[in-house]
Amino acid sequence: MALIVQKYGGTSVGSTERIKNVARRVAHHHRQGHQMVVVVSAMSGETNRLLALAKELSPNPDPRELDVVAATGEQVTIGLLAIALTEMGFKAKSYTGGQVRILTDDAYTKARILAIDEAAMRRDLDEGTIVIVAGFQGVDAEGNITTLGRGGSDTSGVALAAALTADECQIYTDVDGVYTTDPRIVPEARRLSTVTFEEMLEMASLGSKVLQIRSVEFAGKYKVKLRVLSSLDEPESNAPGTLITFEEKQNMEQAIISGIAFNRDEAKISVMGVPDKPGIAYAILGPVAAANLDVDMIVQNIGASGHTDFSFTVNRTEFAKTLDVLEQHRGKDFAAREIIGDKHICKVSVVGIGMRSHVGIAAKMFKTLADEGINIQMISTSEIKISVVIDEKYLELAVRVLHKAFELEKEPA
Ligand code: ADP
Ligand code: ASP
Ligand code: MG
Repeated sequence: MALIVQKYGGTSVGSTERIKNVARRVAHHHRQGHQMVVVVSAMSGETNRLLALAKELSPNPDPRELDVVAATGEQVTIGLLAIALTEMGFKAKSYTGGQVRILTDDAYTKARILAIDEAAMRRDLDEGTIVIVAGFQGVDAEGNITTLGRGGSDTSGVALAAALTADECQIYTDVDGVYTTDPRIVPEARRLSTVTFEEMLEMASLGSKVLQIRSVEFAGKYKVKLRVLSSLDEPESNAPGTLITFEEKQNMEQAIISGIAFNRDEAKISVMGVPDKPGIAYAILGPVAAANLDVDMIVQNIGASGHTDFSFTVNRTEFAKTLDVLEQHRGKDFAAREIIGDKHICKVSVVGIGMRSHVGIAAKMFKTLADEGINIQMISTSEIKISVVIDEKYLELAVRVLHKAFELEKEPA
């Protein structure tokens, strides 16, 4: 007997028919003798709909109230799934995040999980009850409803698996695993049977939405056995999906590049003609950090005649706010000839731990993009990834040509 946590995303619970299908899969595993904890997202499109309602009333809704609204999506699906399972003759009980007591900090709309009280769930499991928990939500120490950021149900699933020391956490979604890149962009993308935890962490942080980054961080910290699978297969199918592994493969089978990630959610800001002197980076980015705005890539040009240009990227949703902050400090903390912004950029990254032992990956990436006339605006590298910022209109082309250039559609030899 194993304890299994299964998480189902929005598409997987997008209709009552799909919810019945989820119930059948959960029942299948329960009948095999496993203790089952099921985490569900809101029905597909529902979280967007709820957030849009709030925006109709205010351009800048109070984050506490936004979470009160957004968290209702998951409350509907836990109830519906419990009803479906009960109708099939199983004992099932639903819990909101607050009812479990998934304790988070009070950073509304992007709260972090601090602790999970597993006592009630354990009692239910010991009685043979299927436990159903709302993803994406928790409560802070004062009892306020919080949400964990978009895609946060993945993190709920993995955090519950960690708290319950589950044997496996299975993330069911609308694709049958983690692919070499988003199969919606590149139809030839190939499912990976395994991907290392480090690679998955990079891919998630670089924009692959198949797993929320924090879920991967949790899995790493608590060594949760994590697998991504399709909810659209037959419940009895033993499709293996993709296992996130903590060990690297033997050198022979390890591909140099495992995947290509991309992110459209960034924007670039360039502060032109700033004095080239010590302290300038701090003068520009200090106020940005103080305003709680996340900066991603940073590039400072070589100075000429005592001046230089300084560029960085921020989340697109924080673009306007960042420009405001810079304008407030310009002339006081730093001088600049001009501040320019560009929202129409994207970041494309190649990821692979094989890069550690191979040279020439960056050169191949740059040549591939150059051959298509795609200009690289910024570059950043780490031991296992190379990222470039390019014009957003070339995103799909860039991902396709890189996928082909690195022969990712082929099984590594
Ligand atoms: P869910 O609602 O189940 O959480 P998401 O839409 O959040 O599903 O994540 C699944 C989607 O992630 C897929 O439909 C796919 O388009 C996208 N995706 C992006 N990168 C990848 C990748 N490397 N492998 C698989 N899916 C990916
Ligand atoms: N329903 C939430 C969202 O759409 C959480 C999730 O699906 O993971 O972001
Ligand atoms: Mg998701």
